[in-house]
Amino acid sequence: MDLYEYQARDLFEKHDVPVLRGITATSPTQAEEAAQKLGAGVVVVKAQVKVGGRGKAGGVKLAKSPSEAAEAADAILGLKIKGHTVRRVMVAEGADIAEEYYFSILLDRTKRRYLVMLSKEGGVEIETLAVERPEALVRRSFSPLDGMTTTLARDIATEAGFSEEEITKLIPVFKKLYEAYVEEDATLVEVNPLVKTSSGDMVALDGKVSLDENAAFRHPDHAELQDHSAQDPLELKAQKMGLNYVKLDGSVGVIGNGAGLVMSTLDVVAYAGEGLASQPKPANFLDIGGGANAEVMANGLEVILGDAQVKSVFVNVFGGITACDEVAKGIVQAFRILESEGIEPKPLVVRLDGNNAELGRSILEDANLPKLQQVGTMDEAARTAAELADSAVTVNA
Ligand code: GDP
Ligand code: MN
Repeated sequence: MDLYEYQARDLFEKHDVPVLRGITATSPTQAEEAAQKLGAGVVVVKAQVKVGGRGKAGGVKLAKSPSEAAEAADAILGLKIKGHTVRRVMVAEGADIAEEYYFSILLDRTKRRYLVMLSKEGGVEIETLAVERPEALVRRSFSPLDGMTTTLARDIATEAGFSEEEITKLIPVFKKLYEAYVEEDATLVEVNPLVKTSSGDMVALDGKVSLDENAAFRHPDHAELQDHSAQDPLELKAQKMGLNYVKLDGSVGVIGNGAGLVMSTLDVVAYAGEGLASQPKPANFLDIGGGANAEVMANGLEVILGDAQVKSVFVNVFGGITACDEVAKGIVQAFRILESEGIEPKPLVVRLDGNNAELGRSILEDANLPKLQQVGTMDEAARTAAELADSAVTVNA
């Protein structure tokens, strides 16, 4: 999960990385108030979007008074930067910049080590620097067991060409940034620019942080960093139910158990759809997992039927740990839940195979659910589901 700059700033502050005060605003009036709170002096109004190069795109403006901050916010809010619309700005204390540097720590998966990068030439886009003047970028991989030692911090700063006085000030900043990286389970901490002010202090002026979502269980406080406004509402709902769901663009809802089976189901559905008039495609990825029970199936169906684009649903289950009778019960239960909630069922094609398949099939037959049909093979079932979606569209058209 990538953080916004203001979230990275907060995180840095929590770990005693030197930052400047910043307040977010979603309107020019709020920006004006924020500037007033920050007190006299220059402020910077910065677009909060998860892309770099905001400065060049007009998303970073200096303001000498609260009313100028309001004007800057007015100009920046609504701006589109690399496809991202700006809905929030951060009003930050202005820095008196003498020099701009670059610093980052990231995960080097292939080496199973961390990588630290440092340059005296910050501010610019690092990709450009790495290509045009690679010698100006110090790169050093180090072991997570060693961490950011004073020796390492000193070595990279010396190699990058910093003076002794600067090195003394940089060492604790690098260590704090490393502390933030490790303690927050980040995969990237980037500061561009890390600035030296005219009074010689080092300040992290712009931060980019990516957090490792696999470590979310260790950080309940990270949940609130997630930006739900940018997330698909169906994905959000599925996430709250603990489902492994990805929204796609098509009209055939897909549920399966096991990521591999679901992936191949998507392929089979897409292939079956190619020959049809409306060329129906999969509407989603949904893996209900190995040990899924009735409730999980009900939740999955609820999410998929909540997708207005869905015209038919293909439930493809190969019973392993999850026996097919469990899945069948789940489908029956799901229909009851949906009925009680007044949700219309959509044509549902079910293919059950593997552990307890026959038992599962007879449970479904006995339940006599509306709009549900069982098909024996995966290819047949995919074709049937695609055809149902296609005819739904053709009839409506
Ligand atoms: P980015 O373009 O998205 O990376 O946004 P940054 O936050 O890095 O800002 C871009 C540039 O704006 C920086 O490299 C600085 O040159 C300038 N800038 C940002 N904040 C300040 C500030 O407080 N004072 C001054 N003078 N310049 C700033
Ligand atoms: Mn930057």
